[in-house]
Amino acid sequence: MTDADLRIDALTGTRVVVTPWRQRRPNLPDGCPFCPGGLEAPEPYEVRHFPNRWPALPDGRHEVILHSPDHNSSFPALGGDRSAQVVELWSARTAALGSREDVNYVFVFENRGRLIGSTIDHPHSQVMAFGMIPPIPESELSAAACDLCRDPGQDLIVTRCAGWQAVVPWAPSWPYEMLISPRRHVADLPAAGPDLRAGLGVMLVEALTRMEALLGRDTPYMLWLHQRPTGPGDWPAAHLHLHLAPVLRAPGVTRHLAAAEFGAGVFFDPVDPQQAAAQLRTPPRDGTMQHQPRQR
Ligand SMILES: [Zn+2]
Ligand SMILES: [Zn+2]
Ligand SMILES: [Zn+2]
Repeated sequence: MTDADLRIDALTGTRVVVTPWRQRRPNLPDGCPFCPGGLEAPEPYEVRHFPNRWPALPDGRHEVILHSPDHNSSFPALGGDRSAQVVELWSARTAALGSREDVNYVFVFENRGRLIGSTIDHPHSQVMAFGMIPPIPESELSAAACDLCRDPGQDLIVTRCAGWQAVVPWAPSWPYEMLISPRRHVADLPAAGPDLRAGLGVMLVEALTRMEALLGRDTPYMLWLHQRPTGPGDWPAAHLHLHLAPVLRAPGVTRHLAAAEFGAGVFFDPVDPQQAAAQLRTPPRDGTMQHQPRQR
């Protein structure tokens, strides 16, 4: 185990990394450090990566990925091609960090919006390179066969495009969660190849545009990738995918996770998954499908 300060709660088995130094990080810093010329981006850039100044994991294993020099951008505003540049950088950092001896799992994620705790609005994601295989991917990987290669059923499919599909899970933890996966069995971003990675840029725009049409522009969300562990081992169930979870259950209404979810470990979903898929398939036609850059 190489993850400093990893603790396992004796009662529940929950894994906790204690990071007291992160308490000192600024909560909404003055001026944007991610805009070109800012603290973390002194030179012009299209996409950029750098070590997190307030890392949750040591030894350069927590990075920040900047998606665009434009402070007010988003995947839908970037469009497919420029979103694909972000996917390419996720892939390159997966390969680079995954080649390290002290790394067994590269976890890419985005927390978007203040509601979910993002301290900087500038479009960015993060990469954590764990020494361990974290428990949720480990649980998914323990399946004997690949569940993502099964037909999910028409009523859960939201959309298919560019070699990818987006479905609402049969048992979603979040009401409008989407599971986005390549339609062929590919273990990770580096193995996907440039064409399929470019397709993910297109699919991200598509899925987020549908989500925003249904739940409102700039809906706060979480996005995370699951892929093959980077250490040794055979992982037949490793099928690259993304979980996209808006943190609203209706326009303007926050979905809270609380005592039942944390204390009982059971999620309660107030929206029927087939209904969620139908709504995401055919979002309201009030013009919100056309993305406009947001105003500050
Ligand atoms: Zn900025
Ligand atoms: Zn598969
Ligand atoms: Zn997963």
